[in-house]
Amino acid sequence: MDCIFCKIIEGSIPSKKAFENEHVLAFHDIEPAAPVHILIVPKKHIPTMNDVTAEDGALIAELFTVARALAKEHGIAESGYRLINNCNADGGQTCYHLHFHLLGGKKLGPLLQ
Ligand code: IMP
Repeated sequence: MDCIFCKIIEGSIPSKKAFENEHVLAFHDIEPAAPVHILIVPKKHIPTMNDVTAEDGALIAELFTVARALAKEHGIAESGYRLINNCNADGGQTCYHLHFHLLGGKKLGPLLQ
């Protein structure tokens, strides 16, 4: 499968890991948009938010739990952060493997452009 995040998960493309367990990998974005910019990714290949099903409920909850823990670990829980999913072309998605961007470490600008 030609999915860059699947290759990162299997280890054939290197990444700077922030967290890993059986279901979830988190790694630092290669082009950080903020001092903290971590991608939180399910190991299961789910292309977009539109492909999430009710069966993925526990997995999605786990992604949020990991995000919360990483925000605390990276010292941005209290100052604040954003957790973003881009879906499909108009949403700005470029990697078609579900992921959440954890962004923080500076005062973030307006969300919409
Ligand atoms: P999207 O635009 O929401 O799909 O986000 C994809 C993100 O993946 C972008 O912020 C990219 O900078 C990031 N990215 C792409 N390739 C790599 C990589 O090999 N390592 C880490 N981050 C990557």
